[in-house]
Amino acid sequence: MIPEDHPRYRSLQVREHLARCAAEGILSLEGLTAHGRGEAFDYLIGEKTMESALRAERAAAALLLCAERPVISVNGNTAALAAGSIALLQQASNAAVEVNLFHRTEERTRKITTLLERHGVTVLEGIPERLLPLSHDRALCLPRGIGSADVVLVPLEDGDRCQALVDVGKTVIAIDLNPLSRTAMTATLTIVDEVTRAIPQMTRFCRALAREEVHLCATGYENRELLRSAIREIQLRLDHALD
Ligand code: ATP
Repeated sequence: MIPEDHPRYRSLQVREHLARCAAEGILSLEGLTAHGRGEAFDYLIGEKTMESALRAERAAAALLLCAERPVISVNGNTAALAAGSIALLQQASNAAVEVNLFHRTEERTRKITTLLERHGVTVLEGIPERLLPLSHDRALCLPRGIGSADVVLVPLEDGDRCQALVDVGKTVIAIDLNPLSRTAMTATLTIVDEVTRAIPQMTRFCRALAREEVHLCATGYENRELLRSAIREIQLRLDHALD
């Protein structure tokens, strides 16, 4: 039991939840360590959405709304942390949802699908094929999903697969707390924010953007500039950390 008055109550609660998800086979052990890396960056960010992230979230919502075949790629961490928010983003954006795992097993895919469905997500099913220029199972995705998508949202993606998606011509939106990761650098658009903050913000923008704003927002960003702004915001925070 975590005492509610603990200053890190929410963070400890999330850790406990993720440990439970790992024990149930939803989250991989590697996913737990990836969460730790994310937490470290979130500490530096101040555990709130930065101004640059908000701009990226608006552009990301616009990209989903402009897409012909948008797909949200969901892994164990994302499902464990944000299943309910993904259902709302799916409703607001009309995107398909595909379970796509780095450490892929039939059993984990099924467990994550069940978890998502319990929260109201419609999950694409099918037989995955090796459609990405990557070795082994990391190349697998669904022909009707990521395989034929024009825009793919990848919360917490690995750098290699992000690069492979860009290489086959996808517009890739990444959510990654580390502005220096290979994923952040290679994605078409990077949201430097925590996934449970980023997805609801995107949903809000999907609902709020006026029709005539959408095209402008979907094209009016420069990813390097957004990343530079994110790093600058972190730097500024650190400069004043001991004031
Ligand atoms: P890359 O391959 O892109 O250079 P990496 O090796 O760190 O980066 P992974 O370990 O595959 O990539 O993915 C973990 C990434 O996800 C980390 O960059 C981490 O900051 C980020 N991350 C972890 N938890 C969260 C979260 N809750 N919200 C957003 N990002 C997160």
